[in-house]
Formats: sequence, C-alpha cells, structure tokens
Amino acid sequence: MAIATVNPATGETLKTFDALNAGEIEDHLVRADQAFQEHRNSSFAYRKERMLAAADLLDADQDGIARTMTTEMGKPLAQARAEAAKCAKTMRWYAEHAEALLADEHPDPADVSDSGAIRAVVRYRPLGTVLAVMPWNFPLWQVVRFAAPALMAGNTGLLKHASNVPQTALYLEELFRRAGFPEGCFQTLLIGSGAVEDVLRDPRVAAATLTGSEPAGRAVASTAGDEIKKTVLELGGSDPFIVLPSADLDKAARIAVTARVQNNGQSCIAAKRFIVHEDVYDAFAERFTDRMAALTVGDPMDEHTDVGPLSSEQGRSDLEELVDDAVHQGAEALCGGRRPPQHPAGWFYEPTILSGITPAMRIHKEEAFGPVATLYRVADLDEAVRLANDTPFGLSSNAWTRDPEEQQRLARDVQAGGVFFNGMTASHPGLPFGGAKRSGYGRELSGHGIREFCNMTTLWYG
Ligand code: NDP
Repeated sequence: MAIATVNPATGETLKTFDALNAGEIEDHLVRADQAFQEHRNSSFAYRKERMLAAADLLDADQDGIARTMTTEMGKPLAQARAEAAKCAKTMRWYAEHAEALLADEHPDPADVSDSGAIRAVVRYRPLGTVLAVMPWNFPLWQVVRFAAPALMAGNTGLLKHASNVPQTALYLEELFRRAGFPEGCFQTLLIGSGAVEDVLRDPRVAAATLTGSEPAGRAVASTAGDEIKKTVLELGGSDPFIVLPSADLDKAARIAVTARVQNNGQSCIAAKRFIVHEDVYDAFAERFTDRMAALTVGDPMDEHTDVGPLSSEQGRSDLEELVDDAVHQGAEALCGGRRPPQHPAGWFYEPTILSGITPAMRIHKEEAFGPVATLYRVADLDEAVRLANDTPFGLSSNAWTRDPEEQQRLARDVQAGGVFFNGMTASHPGLPFGGAKRSGYGRELSGHGIREFCNMTTLWYG
C-alpha cells in the first residue's frame, strides 16, 4: 500500500511519501535506543512538564490537525476536533497520575519473611523502545493512548502508522519534539507493513503494541512470539447492543445510532449487533430505523454532516460484500443498503439496518467496518446472552436494562472486555480498555495500560 494522503470524500491523491530506506530505519533505531538510555533515568517531574506542554500544543493546534485527519480518513470534522481534545485530556491524565500509578509497592514483610527477606519492593521500570503499529480510524487517539503512558513510564516509542494517514503520523512526532521530549523519544517510521518484521526483530526494540485487523495482529504477535517480546493487541470487535424490556427505548434508540455510526461506522468498539427482546422489538426497530434513515451523509468538512465516507475504496467494497451476501440470503434492509446516489465520487455508503440475519450469513460472524447494523429479535435474556457470545470477537458490549438481576447476569456471562449498561462503550483514560477472544489481549489506559510496558522488578533485601 502506497504511503499517501488520499481524500476519501473525493478519491483524489493529495500527497505521496517515500518509505524510509534501510539506512534511514537504522538511524531511527539508533536514535530510539540512545534516547531510551537517557529517558529511562529522567524524573517524573521532567516527563510531566513535557507531557503537559504537548497537551497545550495539541489544544492550540486542534482545528488544523482535525482538518488533516478529516482530509486523510474522512471522519466528520466535529468528531476529529473531539478526538484531538480527548488526546490532550489523556496526556494530562497520565502527566498527573503516572508517578502514583508506577509507585513502588511494598509487600507486607510478614507475608514474605519466610523467603528470608528483611523487606521486599516491587518496582515498575521502563522496558525500552516500543514499536506501535497503529490504524487510521482514530489516527491521533490510537497513538496517544499508547504514547502518553509509554513516555511517562520512561519508554521510547517508534510509530508505524497506517499508510493512509502519513501527515497525522508526522504531526505526532513533531508534537512530542516541540513539547521538549529529547530527540529519539518518539519517532514516526514511514514504512510499509512489509518492513515491520525486521524492525520488530531488532534487539533494540523491546516490545510491540498493535491496533488493527486480526491478520495484522497475528503477523506482529507471531514475530514477537518468535523473539519472546511482549505484545498488546487490540483487534476488531462486533459488539452486541442488548435491549431488554426495562430499557428507556427512546434513549436506547438515540444512543444506538451514535454507537453504530460514530466515525462513519469504523470503530472497533462500535455497537454492531443489536439484540432486542421481542416485547420491545417493534418499538425499538421503528425508532432506530427512523433515526438512521434521517442521518445526513456527505462532505465530512461540512459541520452538518453526520456520516462521511469510508476511509478507502477497499473498505467500502468489503462492507458492500457483507451486505450483499446477507441480502442475497434473505436479510431485509430496513434502511440503506446501497451507495448514496447523490455522492457518486468518494467512498460513501448509506447508514443501513439489516434484519432477518441467520448464522449462514457472513455478517453474523464478521466485523462490519462501516455504518451497517444488524438487528436480531430474541425471546428472553438467555437467548440474548447466547447470541451476544456467538461471535469470535469479545471487545466490549452494551446492555440496556434497569433490572439489577439482569445486570448481574450480563456482567457475569457476556464474554467481552467490557459491559456498558444503559450507555455506549467509550474509552476513558481512567478505565482499562481491551478485549477477550479474537479481539486481542492486554489492556490500554488506566494503571493497567501504563504497566503493560514496564519491567515489574522484584527487589529482595536479605
Ligand atoms: P490493518 O490491520 O491492515 O492495518 C492496521 C495497521 O497494521 C496499519 O498500520 C497497517 O499498515 C499494519 N499492518 C497491516 N498488515 C500488517 C502486517 N502483516 N504486519 C505488520 N503490520 C501490518 O487494517 P486495515 O486498514 O486494512 O483494515 C482492515 C480491517 O481491520 C477493517 O475492516 C477492520 O475490520 C479492522 N480494523 C480494526 C481496527 C480497530 O480499531 N480495531 C482499526 C482498523 C481496522 P499499512 O497501513 O501500511 O498496511
């Protein structure tokens, strides 16, 4: 895949970039390693000052970087601005909390005295240079939620960003440099996916984190496994959105639309499968369909647009194939199900709801990465839980019920990294984020996220 900015709203190639050659990659690795030897010994106060400066710079740059993101991958401009604001918030959160999250732990001497220790300490030391392989869908956020904790922990970062967001990738390197992080602490590697393996095998790279598709995750984790290097994987999702009779239906239908179409439907934690109790199915389906059909599809730079284009032509044809397969096998499109005729240029697709889904349809098991919802009718909670778990994925889930017993049952039985009650899944710096099953492993954000790339060291004093 060429490294280039191609506007998905028009299909026009705006700027192309050369990939780094072997010598340039080596220079980046040298700089990263040298920077780590310094940065690992810097104080939390030093890192905090620079992380806060990065947050301030990002706030000041908000409109410009939002326009770059929208140009490169098509998200509505207001959502791009909100993404930049969330990144600045997360930088500040880690700037303020990192020292406490990584403070020494002191096991109770009575618990460890039979080891012969007078005392023992658990210390979180940085691991080294971490390679981040990142996707285009939240081109700032996916990177910052790795970079903020990694830099605050004393690690250094190498970013291999998706090939369609090179300007956002270069902006990130520049941002941390302008904020005062020493040269080499955070660098962007403009390389194709074929060059990732050699970088990851390099002894100066300690670990990797990847957000993206299952094949990409499998490739990176296989290489890392071969090299015995730590990985965190955040892969796809097909999150259920369960609606039970006690739900506030108006609110559930309103949030269902946002949960499905935010970021033009290209979010790993988007609700994708809507599983509705038969007592409220018709009422929910009507409200949900009315709202999905009323969305404005169009130019993502226009402040009135709800849904912009998909990020690539390939992304749209993958989505179309899933919808066409379902419709050919008897699914009904309650709305959408086609390209919007008023937008012949660009990679647009209408917000779509499919009902009558059967397990034979590909969309029942595969991730729909675009504004397409599947709607299921269930007889009771047991069937809802069975269907929610009938997926290879387990990223997060949403459940609408005000019944405490139902909430307990769902908290116990839904196989996912999160259950969000009466709301939609969203990431927050203070809450762990990550999946189960084929959605990956490890956690980002919160104390759990910052400790993933630390060497948890036992200090034993005899
Ligand atoms: P990919 O997983 O292919 O891309 C994500 C990142 O991984 C990019 O930086 C990409 O680089 C890199 N990459 C891809 N293949 C390899 C490999 N073999 N070794 C090392 N790095 C690799 O996502 P796509 O953009 O192709 O999207 C395909 C599907 O993935 C989507 O339809 C969706 O289902 C899922 N996805 C999930 C995301 C999530 O948030 N969990 C985000 C994006 C996609 P390059 O761009 O150079 O190929």
